[in-house]
Amino acid sequence: MSSESQSFICEHCNNEFHSISSLNYHQKNALFCLNIQQNINNTNIPLKCEYCEHMLSCKKSLSRHLKNCKKREVKHLENINKELSIKLENITQQYELIKSKIDELTTENIFLSRHYITSSSKITELLEENKFIKKNAIKQDKEYMQLLSEKLSLQSRFNNNL
Ligand SMILES: [Zn+2]
Ligand SMILES: [Zn+2]
Repeated sequence: MSSESQSFICEHCNNEFHSISSLNYHQKNALFCLNIQQNINNTNIPLKCEYCEHMLSCKKSLSRHLKNCKKREVKHLENINKELSIKLENITQQYELIKSKIDELTTENIFLSRHYITSSSKITELLEENKFIKKNAIKQDKEYMQLLSEKLSLQSRFNNNL
């Protein structure tokens, strides 16, 4: 194992070191780490980043860390992405619903159009038939009047001959 790939992580503040001696020196001398160690010992509530688990010495440095924490940013973006995915899914569902409604209405429209065409050709047919019947009625009327006048003239001739 090469010494370069080996790393030593401080159990209190999560900082990384390349040798055990620098880790030991850090844990005994770094003020913020000592603060964390004291904090852990005193209150048992260490200041830990909730995203990357990095330990901080005080609330101020924690808030500064939170502003720059890459894992927090990634999480934030993941949440936004999730929200957008849900919205997109909802919109897609609504779109599908509207599309199927349009299909339904189109089918109904085609049916009604056909029905309308059939009905109007039926109406035209009936109008033609009506015209024909009227014409016939007028013709029959004329014929009847003619026969009636013939009958009357025959009657008057017959009466004159009596
Ligand atoms: Zn440390
Ligand atoms: Zn963090």
